[in-house]
Amino acid sequence: MVTVTLQTNHARLQQRLNDLSTIGVLPYGGVRRMAYSPEDLAARQQMITAMEQVDMAITIDAAGNIIGRYSGTQDLPALATGSHIDTVPAGGRYDGALGVLAGIEVVATLHEAGQRLKHPIEVIVFTDEEGEMIGSKAMAGTAHYTDAEFYQRLDGTSIQTCLQRIGGDWKQLATAQRTSQDVAVYLELHVEQGGVLEARECQIGVVQGIVSLQRYLVTISGRPNHAGTTPMDMRQDALYAASLLVAAVHDVAVDIPGDQVATVGYLDVTPNAANIVPGQVDLTIDMRDLSLETIETMVNALQQRVQKIEVTTGTQIQLERQHAVEPTLASPRIQETIAAVCDSLKLSHYSMPSRAIHDAQEMGRFTQMGMIFVPSQAGVSHAEDEYTSPEQCGQGADVLLHTLLQLDLNLL
Ligand SMILES: [Zn+2]
Repeated sequence: MVTVTLQTNHARLQQRLNDLSTIGVLPYGGVRRMAYSPEDLAARQQMITAMEQVDMAITIDAAGNIIGRYSGTQDLPALATGSHIDTVPAGGRYDGALGVLAGIEVVATLHEAGQRLKHPIEVIVFTDEEGEMIGSKAMAGTAHYTDAEFYQRLDGTSIQTCLQRIGGDWKQLATAQRTSQDVAVYLELHVEQGGVLEARECQIGVVQGIVSLQRYLVTISGRPNHAGTTPMDMRQDALYAASLLVAAVHDVAVDIPGDQVATVGYLDVTPNAANIVPGQVDLTIDMRDLSLETIETMVNALQQRVQKIEVTTGTQIQLERQHAVEPTLASPRIQETIAAVCDSLKLSHYSMPSRAIHDAQEMGRFTQMGMIFVPSQAGVSHAEDEYTSPEQCGQGADVLLHTLLQLDLNLL
């Protein structure tokens, strides 16, 4: 058990969440605050002001990340926390915002108590998490440094212009890179964005890691032909093959133990006409799990099914891997610390992977990473009715505070 005396101010955290959500507010209570937009700029300024009020020193790196630093009593690498304040086009009030504001609330609590840790605390507002994650990628050294076009906005605005708006500098992007000598730990509080905690009636999620994502583009080639004159046994129906493949994708995920997921979310039928046997189908397969081995098992099982489907339907099926993101595991020590803090605060907790991508995924590539989840009502996120109660937000902030306090003592 760890001793817990300090508590974050839940009402103040709620007030800050309310204030931030007024910037880019939508008619039904959601938020539109796209990276680099005037709303994003205003929100960034609001964060800087809040950080300065609690004696944090502000730096903006070349990737436009805002780094607020609350100095420690010793010359040690930082304990960093944070998240993002940009949103999807019609997002909620909590995704990202909670992590940043809880970080500021943790510092405000320490500042009010006149307390400094041995390590400096950093609260980081990462640039464009909902887009290309240039902020955390630049910090981890995984950004596409030479490919400016990769980061170009849909409206044609260049990344150079975007970064300039927020105080960054594309040409200096590599200078944003940091190491574990600078950041000893990165701990992010985030809403779960799924329904697991609610279903399990648990208050806090202890994140085991952020899953690997692999995406395949599949082309099924059959033969388009007359829907009336082509007998059933003479068809090469690409959509019939696709239907068997969709079922196979579902099967390979549920046939082995574990909570891996696999999805066909996109399907394009050619020629897509009522009176023609479909000649070609393009579809995507998205597979996610913490373990690369599990994903490999699913892929192997799928390949066997594909061969059978080709024989049954007379089609040809090509799988091309489009996209593969390595998993990032959370530090076991940080997971244990979060769980111990929850026990002391009498909060129930549940260990789970994150199946959504977060800045922590990139930060975890160069330093010890941990994540704390709080429940999302009905599992809804990236939507206007995203909701996490004031009590749940406050509980998350308290776990963040005490985990940082414990890590401060035990990392030395
Ligand atoms: Zn987020």
